[in-house]
Order: sequence, then structure tokens, then C-alpha cells
Amino acid sequence: MTLKVLSLASEAVPLVKTGGLADVVGALPAALAAEGVEMTTMLPGYPAVMRGLGRLRKVASFDSLLGEPARVVSARLEDGRRLLVLDAPGLFQRDGGPYGDATGADWGDNWRRFAAFGLAAAQLAGVGGKPRFDLVHAHDWQAAMACVYLRYGGRPVPSVLTIHNMAFQGYFGADIFPRLGLPDAAWTMEGIEFHGGVGMLKGGMVCADAITTVSPTYAREIHTARFGMGLDGVVRARSNLVEGILNGIDRAEWNPSHDPRLAAPFDAQHLAPRRANKRAIEQAFGLAKDEGPLFVVISRLTWQKGIDVLLEAVDHLVGLGGRLALLGAGDPALEGQLLEAAARHPGRVAAKFGYDEPLSHLMQGGGDAILIPSRFEPCGLTQLYGLAYGCVPVVARTGGLADTVIDANAAAMAEQSATGIVFSEASYDELSLAITRTIRLYADKTAWRRLQRSGMRADFGWGASAKAYAALYRRLIEAAR
Ligand code: ADP
Repeated sequence: MTLKVLSLASEAVPLVKTGGLADVVGALPAALAAEGVEMTTMLPGYPAVMRGLGRLRKVASFDSLLGEPARVVSARLEDGRRLLVLDAPGLFQRDGGPYGDATGADWGDNWRRFAAFGLAAAQLAGVGGKPRFDLVHAHDWQAAMACVYLRYGGRPVPSVLTIHNMAFQGYFGADIFPRLGLPDAAWTMEGIEFHGGVGMLKGGMVCADAITTVSPTYAREIHTARFGMGLDGVVRARSNLVEGILNGIDRAEWNPSHDPRLAAPFDAQHLAPRRANKRAIEQAFGLAKDEGPLFVVISRLTWQKGIDVLLEAVDHLVGLGGRLALLGAGDPALEGQLLEAAARHPGRVAAKFGYDEPLSHLMQGGGDAILIPSRFEPCGLTQLYGLAYGCVPVVARTGGLADTVIDANAAAMAEQSATGIVFSEASYDELSLAITRTIRLYADKTAWRRLQRSGMRADFGWGASAKAYAALYRRLIEAAR
């Protein structure tokens, strides 16, 4: 029997993306189609989303969705994906990013924007009407309110909440509670109340029928105070409902043998064209032409990603003959420090700020190693793209990084299973040592090629994970009957 699942998220490629969430939400429908799941993706109607839609059909309208007139429209993307969009101009038609204005400051009404989004989804899924779906799959705090409205709306269908990053929780003041249209019963520790305020991710976690996160290691880590970000108690209380399902990558988008964003395509048997991509990166970044190791970083510039630790290790990297090209966006203070590092090492270190999808592909296709010194990493996609593109990942042993990269220690090198360099934590000492190891390995061309090829052969497609999601959906739907 085909299952109808509504997948609810604040971003999805190709319409709107600020991070890995968009890649995952964009890839799930095709991955799950193979498992007999018909997935419809629902997004907020930001300007970029509304512009990207072809023919629309209205499927629902609301005179007042938490005070805003709104409608839900359906459309199909070129690739056949089914889309629902919450068209509520008062909430979503504005310049800036999905979560904040052009300066990066969060919109003051985010609580209402995303609560309305969850409420609309819950109604489409059967609250106060006939269910149009068998299950709702909500991603992150921006969608988590769907689980809350479903629970307090009589649980017409089960819901799954996937946590892509525990650091973003959608926490607001208690004053918004009366405006959410929830019964008083929701204002408890078993509901949406959290430390005297409204916790949207927390509410979703206690109301969903299952909680997943995006790697098995991160699923274990969030049980602890160090990684749980204050929600580890909730995780432990619902531990039997928590599961880690690794993200896959979309091989249609990320395949070096036919990626139009590369200067030269290549595959595991023909790695030589990578050199042309390296030249193109040097040119794009104004780096010196050199056959030595070129490290790349493609990242949000935040504390999570350990960019401050990377900055400490830059002189060491250059001192050993390495070069660094960084593409990132985020913390202005980190941007300033990166520019200082680039000024200290002209031709050896360069940074570009902003979001540049084509350049990110080129960097994977021509960089020798991708550095990911994250303090925590729920899954991480850039190491998976690195593996697929022969850009050897150099990663901290945390979350999905620990689950997907096999360290080039002597035993793994001997049995040819190594795919990258793994270090124990994001600290200057550990990262510097990992950079030293990488540069040494790079000097041994045979070993390096072997490392690249093992990574390129590894399977990080969606197959196994799609099966795990489909099995979870079926279990929950069965249990709800
Ligand atoms: P997160 O979701 O925490 O940011 P992931 O590694 O899971 O980290 O996903 C990041 C995604 O965003 C990847 O697809 C990566 O290539 C992309 N990305 C990050 N920064 C940039 C940037 N400045 N320009 C282009 N793509 C970027």
C-alpha cells in the first residue's frame, strides 16, 4: 500500500537553502518513492518559493491563520515532486532570508510565522477535517509545531519529528502562548512549556510519535548534557522513541562524472582531471598555482563549525606547505579574522563570503582535502560530498562525521578501508596534528589515491536510510490504527 506522507520543512532545494536541511528535505521524496511512500513537501511561501512555482492549485484557505489570511497551494516541480506551499504574504512575503532580515537579525514574528506553518499542516493532515495524509514528518523547530497541533487536535495521524540540529530550538517568551490557539493543557512540562517559555522544538519532541536525528552517533550524543543543549532530559525521557537515521546524498546533484559546475568531470578511475578543477579554484580565489595540498572549507561560519580553531591552525597549515580556500557565510567577526589570515598569507590563504552553490561543487571537485573541525555535527553533508568527489575529509570525531569517515590509521590503510583523517576533537593540538598527517599522506601519491578511491566507492546514497524511514512510518501508522 502506498503511504501518503506530508514532509514539512522551512527549506528544500532547489527553492530555498541555507544549510544541509534543504538538501535532505529535497532528496527525501525521490528516495522514499522507491519504498512505496508518496511524499509531499510543504514549504513556507517565501518570495523565492512563490517565484519558483509553475501552475498553482488552491487546496485550502484560511480567513485567519493565527490572525493572518492564508491559503495553501499545490504545485509540481519540474522533477515531478509534489509541493504544498503556505501562501501567507503577511508572514512570508518579505525581503531577506527565510529566518531574518538582510543583516541576519531574526524576524521578530518567527514564532507566529512557523506556528502558523505547523497549524496549516496539521489541519491538512486531519485536524478538524478529513485526513489527506497518513503521517506528518516535521523537520526541525520551524516545523515542530505541526506535531503539537496534531497532538492537541486529537491525533488524527501520527507524526515524526527529525532534529537536524539541536542548537536551534525555537524558544520564545511565555507571552506568545495564549496566541498559539492551544488548549491550556499544552502549557505544561508534558506540552510546550520549557523553562517558563515556549519551546517549539521541545513541544514537538514531546508530542511527536517518534523522534529521529540524522546520524546514530548524534542520536547517542544528544542524550548527554554536552550535546543535548538543555533538551537532553527530554531526549532521555523519550529515549525509546529516538532513532538515528543517517542522511544520504543526492547522486543526481552530486556526481563528479557529470557535474556541470566542474571545470572538468572525473571519476574514481580517472582522477587526473581534478587538476583542472584545482586550477579553477586557484583562479577563483586568487591563490598561487601550486601542486601542493589545497585544503578547502565550505561552511557556515559559526562556533559549531570550529572556525575559530581553524583560524588558530592556519599558520601551521601554511608553514607545512598547504594552502586554504574557504567559502562561508555567518559570523562577521570570524569573517574579519579570516580576512586577516588571508592578508598574512597572500596566495596561500583566501576566503570568499556568501553563498555560492556552483563554487562549492568546484571546491569539492578540485580541493585535495576538506577540513571539518566541528564541535558537534548532527550528520554533516560536506564530508559526504568530499568523499564522493575525492576531496579527502579531515574531520573531528563527532556525530555524523564519526559515522561516515574511516580514519587512515595503519590498520585501515593496510586493509584499504580508510577514507579520510579523523581527529578526536576540535582543538588546536588535534587539528594541527590532523593537518600534519594529511600533508604527509598527500606526499605519498599511491596512498593518497587509494584514500580518494576508497571514499569515492563508499555508498552514501539514500537506499538504506529511505528503508529505515519507510519502516518507521509503517510502524507508526500500524500502531495508530
Ligand atoms: P549545516 O547544515 O550544519 O550547515 P551540512 O554539512 O549538513 O551543515 O550542510 C551544509 C550544506 O550547505 C552543504 O550542502 C554545503 O555544501 C552547503 N554550504 C555551506 N556553506 C555554503 C556556502 N557558503 N556556499 C555554498 N554552499 C554552502
